Amino acid sequence: MNVEGHIKEIKKAAAGIDRPLRLMEVCGTHTVSIFRAGIRQILPSNVALVSGPGCPVCVTDDAYIDKAIAYALEPNTIIATFGDMLKVPGSCSSLSLAQAEGADIRIVYSPLDAVDIARDNPERRVIFLAVGFETTAPTAAAAILTARSMGLKNFFALSAHKLVPPIMRALLDSDDIKVDGFLLPGHVAVVIGAEAFGFLPRDYRISGVVAGFEPEEILRALARLLRSIEELRAEVFNEYESVVREEGNRAAQSILDQVYEICDADWRGIGRIARSGLRMREEFAEFDVERVAPIEVEPSKKNAACRCGEVLRGAIEPRECPLFARVCEPLHPIGPCMVSVEGVCAAWYRYNRG
Ligand code: SF4
Repeated sequence: MNVEGHIKEIKKAAAGIDRPLRLMEVCGTHTVSIFRAGIRQILPSNVALVSGPGCPVCVTDDAYIDKAIAYALEPNTIIATFGDMLKVPGSCSSLSLAQAEGADIRIVYSPLDAVDIARDNPERRVIFLAVGFETTAPTAAAAILTARSMGLKNFFALSAHKLVPPIMRALLDSDDIKVDGFLLPGHVAVVIGAEAFGFLPRDYRISGVVAGFEPEEILRALARLLRSIEELRAEVFNEYESVVREEGNRAAQSILDQVYEICDADWRGIGRIARSGLRMREEFAEFDVERVAPIEVEPSKKNAACRCGEVLRGAIEPRECPLFARVCEPLHPIGPCMVSVEGVCAAWYRYNRG
């Protein structure tokens, strides 16, 4: 079926549902694709898309950034990080400002680049900022295994990996968030498999569709999701079969399991969620900078005006934040949602400011 066919299907299914619907796209890459293709504008009036907590930079807690900055300012230290992290505001500074103060912070495109930096600088401590969801965690785990096989003693990770299913459960369990269906994150599903979202129909009687990232793939997934809601079925459907298997990527899962164990995690603006993160297992403690060289930072001071937590939970739209596009802009972000290209506020700023 072509794009017109999917749009027709969406309209037909929505016409059969006599109530307003809120569908959440969990993943930041979906948010950007949806805006870029103008998909929100062609949806029937009773279908609203809300963005969820699927931007890894956005959900990284202030306290983590504060800690990363404190490590960066220590002597003989190199911080290796993805570029998006540089501008993320901590309590009162950012890695970018720390860099201006002289901290040695290097942008990497893969965690293995950080291992190379450690190999090339044996006299210095290299700390990789290991953030992201199930998508990036296996490569961070692979970097730790590589560092161990190379016998590196100067490679460490500051770990804050997060898991998608627990935050979705937390949203569904909260009283103030209403979601009628999910566009499920294709990249995460590649690793954990479509079946990892089986809790949606099983525990919440709600549907989700694993979707690719091209506009046609998103429309196809939305049509499937709306049909499922119209027919009062609760199911998980994989509309990204070319890359997502029911069971996911067993090799990636095995690497993850070898290096990490599940732990409670702090989500920016949302708080602590039980069993929603990953920490290195005891066998890999020598690579965990927080265990090898713990550092104290002041308790993080939250910026009360920033409403990123509500944006990430789909409770408000970015334009409901009083700072949006007035004080908070991509060049001068107040909250993390305005930093990353996958950030909800940044996407609204770029594509839907008016
Ligand atoms: S507009 Fe800025 S301050 Fe407001 S929620 Fe978004 S990132 Fe936070």
